[in-house]
Amino acid sequence: MNFPRSFPCLLSCLTLAAAVSSTASLAQPDFLAGAAPVTPAAPDPAIVRALQTIQPAHIEETIKALVGFGTRNTLSSMETDLPPGQGINAAADWIAGQFDQISKECGGCLDVHRDTFTQPISERVPQPTTLTNVYAVLRGSDPTQAKRMVLVTGHYDSRNTNVLDTHGSAPGANDDASGVAVSIECARALSKLHLPSTVVFVAVAGEEQGLDGSSHLAKLAKSEGWQLEAVLNNDIVGGNTTPGDSLQLKDRVRVFSEGVPVAASPDQQRRIRALGQENDSPSRELARAIADTARTYFPADSGPFAPVLVFRPDRYLRGGDHSSFNREGFAAVRFTEWREDFNHQHQNVVLPPPGSGNPGEAIKGDLIQFVDFAYVAKVARLNAATLATLAASPGAPVKPGLETKDLDNGTTLNWEAPPGAGPDVHYDLLWRETSAPDWQFVQKVPGYTLTVPTASVPNTLSVKVPISKDNVIFGVRSVDAAGHRSLVAVP
Ligand SMILES: [Zn+2]
Repeated sequence: MNFPRSFPCLLSCLTLAAAVSSTASLAQPDFLAGAAPVTPAAPDPAIVRALQTIQPAHIEETIKALVGFGTRNTLSSMETDLPPGQGINAAADWIAGQFDQISKECGGCLDVHRDTFTQPISERVPQPTTLTNVYAVLRGSDPTQAKRMVLVTGHYDSRNTNVLDTHGSAPGANDDASGVAVSIECARALSKLHLPSTVVFVAVAGEEQGLDGSSHLAKLAKSEGWQLEAVLNNDIVGGNTTPGDSLQLKDRVRVFSEGVPVAASPDQQRRIRALGQENDSPSRELARAIADTARTYFPADSGPFAPVLVFRPDRYLRGGDHSSFNREGFAAVRFTEWREDFNHQHQNVVLPPPGSGNPGEAIKGDLIQFVDFAYVAKVARLNAATLATLAASPGAPVKPGLETKDLDNGTTLNWEAPPGAGPDVHYDLLWRETSAPDWQFVQKVPGYTLTVPTASVPNTLSVKVPISKDNVIFGVRSVDAAGHRSLVAVP
């Protein structure tokens, strides 16, 4: 079988190949009949143009400016003896200024917010401490879609060896000026588009003290009823470049996602176990959507760059701001470079003695010299492409369900159209073997005319297929006329 390309579909193509090759000696299973392999969507020219504006030089300017604040330790907000222009408060002012400037250039398209609050005493917060989250909102242009939101975040606080050190140098170039640069570049690029739903660009504080800023923002989002469909957390996306390290990969970025949602109730967890849905949390569907977007906007012939989906919430011994959003029930994932150098994170800056051997090996500290701005730009483009695609899409099908009234070797799926979906929206039925990591097969659902929902005629769509629901996992997504795909909804 021919695949659309050999790279970067990676796992999904391999699995598809395995599924198909296994039929050489065995009879063809029902789920292969009429199956087409999942292929990339055509790129949206407007999104392509926006991505081209994301340049390494902008990333470099942002990271240089953030490193220039000496320390961005969250607790430095309470210090009054720092030199002028140093410390986290100065960094917050600068980030807000960047969003203001971007907004000025797009005719005031961004609402820039500084959310300042007092963090109470905790293990890493020895006194009540002022924290400020800075974020900018690009309001959706379609009144029926503007309530839907996608969000990109990084943390602008930094630390050195002692997480309570408010004065010592803590450049935090990779952790996490790189992630803040992604948020700012996404704002710059997407402010040029007219997206129907809303995009939020965030820089939070307090990550190193215990995810305090993101926890505050996620709770605010929940209490205010934000319809957050996707949260992209970028933390340590600098593409660390240590001289002599041959194991770093610059054509990949890891995307971590939770399996069983941490916010699932005991009843929901029982259901997940019973149906084998440990691998289909909203966060994991978001991770798959990122991989799908990468296949569209990073074709092999333009210099491959691919997300590697890691099916766990985070790395060993580490946490991140996405988990604050997971805890409030939102789909959220973490982007992190392929291979981290722990000498260049959370360390006091130590420069090598003059004349010592390998300079890269000897240096400690999160210094800008180890950041690869071109790599960060690629991560930013993947974030921006994902945000734009989801914000332009019609929204995921609502209330997806499988009919289970009778024992049946076929499958009937039903769902409701997302609010505001027009007649140009169609639906893709997707499926994969239960052991496959990503969607393998797709069939465009034919022949539906959307009815206007009324009290007596619910806007329910349904499709029946001769494939057993016992052997595969089904999902359904909405696609508009321009090919923007929603997240996949799993019944
Ligand atoms: Zn970090």
